[in-house]
Amino acid sequence: GNKIRNAKLVLLGDVGAGKSSLVLRFVKGQFVEFQESTIGAAFFSQTLAVNDETVKFEIWDTAGQERYHSLAPMYYRGAAAAIVVYDISNQASFTRAKKWVQELQAQGNQNTVVALAGNKADLVETRQVQIEEAKTYAQENGLFFMETSAKTATNVNDIFYEIAKRLLQG
Ligand code: GDP
Ligand code: MG
Repeated sequence: GNKIRNAKLVLLGDVGAGKSSLVLRFVKGQFVEFQESTIGAAFFSQTLAVNDETVKFEIWDTAGQERYHSLAPMYYRGAAAAIVVYDISNQASFTRAKKWVQELQAQGNQNTVVALAGNKADLVETRQVQIEEAKTYAQENGLFFMETSAKTATNVNDIFYEIAKRLLQG
């Protein structure tokens, strides 16, 4: 029937990886070249229909700066889903993403659906993280993985849709 399922979702990842841009693309269908840095965290909500059910995402877009690290557990504890974001043109952001995955697996909820987003997939010319490397890492750690681009909208709705499907199955 027309059930609405609320789902808390958190975005984690390095500063500049494109967390806010992914949310802006998903929630408003927009992209800005000079997205302002997030301070603390920002909240958004968006619904998504999957077959005859509706998932209402309650989205926490975190800052990513080290100085806000101690706040992160407030956002990922009790989260139904997490998207860990890195920038495919920045190897350090992939290293940081792996740290977030480790922290989630150690401190988070075992049932949280975790997605790994290799964002800025449009920046193929300056790619530093190979798809195979990320795919293998994701498989080994029980995450699902997609390359996304907030700029071109590639796979942005898709990653949220895949999360919604998994939440409804689980
Ligand atoms: P956050 O710190 O993780 O929230 O990252 P932002 O969303 O603020 O994005 C950081 C910068 O990267 C901004 O200048 C964005 O315009 C840019 N950006 C975000 N996503 C993409 C993308 O998919 N492709 C490209 N080329 N730039 C992006
Ligand atoms: Mg941000």
